[in-house]
Amino acid sequence: MNSPSRKIRLDQYTSIEVKHLLKDLNNKWGVILPVGCTEQHGPYLPIGCDTDIARKAAENLALNLLEKDGYRALVLPDFSYTPSPGAEWTTGTVSVGFDFLGTGLSEVIKGALRTKWEFIVIVNAHGHNHGRCIEASMAGGSGAFGKQIPIIVVNIYDFISNIEHFGLNCGSHGGEFEISLYHYYYKEYKFNDFTINDDVISIKPPNIFGLDIEKRSFNGIISTKPPNLKRSLEKSNKIGKIIDKNLIETVIGNLDIYYESW
Ligand SMILES: [Zn+2]
Repeated sequence: MNSPSRKIRLDQYTSIEVKHLLKDLNNKWGVILPVGCTEQHGPYLPIGCDTDIARKAAENLALNLLEKDGYRALVLPDFSYTPSPGAEWTTGTVSVGFDFLGTGLSEVIKGALRTKWEFIVIVNAHGHNHGRCIEASMAGGSGAFGKQIPIIVVNIYDFISNIEHFGLNCGSHGGEFEISLYHYYYKEYKFNDFTINDDVISIKPPNIFGLDIEKRSFNGIISTKPPNLKRSLEKSNKIGKIIDKNLIETVIGNLDIYYESW
């Protein structure tokens, strides 16, 4: 598995090669769209954190699909300009409006549907994208873009409940879950040696919106406690494997339901 000789990104193929792949009648072929953001992620993680996680999760999903019969997928170029409300003014963040995201996702799906893919998976790693991803998938899945195929949205953070037994204080942004998963996907990434002063904020309401991110976070990390870097890295391998497993099981399970009910 994970052999680098296997091309799993659409942009690595020629159009003729893709046509050839689509002649394979033993498998249903689809595309996977990674959706992330361009947003500050605290002192440990890069601004592209969510996009990087979505891309690598999508690539692993495509590779893992090769190990089983039934479905094959290529990874589309990722979608990384999305809304980061509350963090718009933090250094390096590029936040766009929700309508841009909604229109953008619809246009990408419409464009992709002109090729004879039989399913689309949206792998989303940024919380604020949730609603627009669902809307675009519902519209696409109902045939509103000219063709009816299943469009499955998988939100990586929805799997947090499946790793709770590891005792991480996951947080919702830049916290131990994302640190752990980032390390699993990007072993070569060097984490900053940075100590977070937990008295910066005396009241930490991670779920309160309408406040600037600085006022509800530890150095840009939204969590009930500052993250423990060491603990996050130690649990990384086990957590990453569970996320990859959850992802492929969710996708295959739902595609099976869709195609069996037809
Ligand atoms: Zn994130």
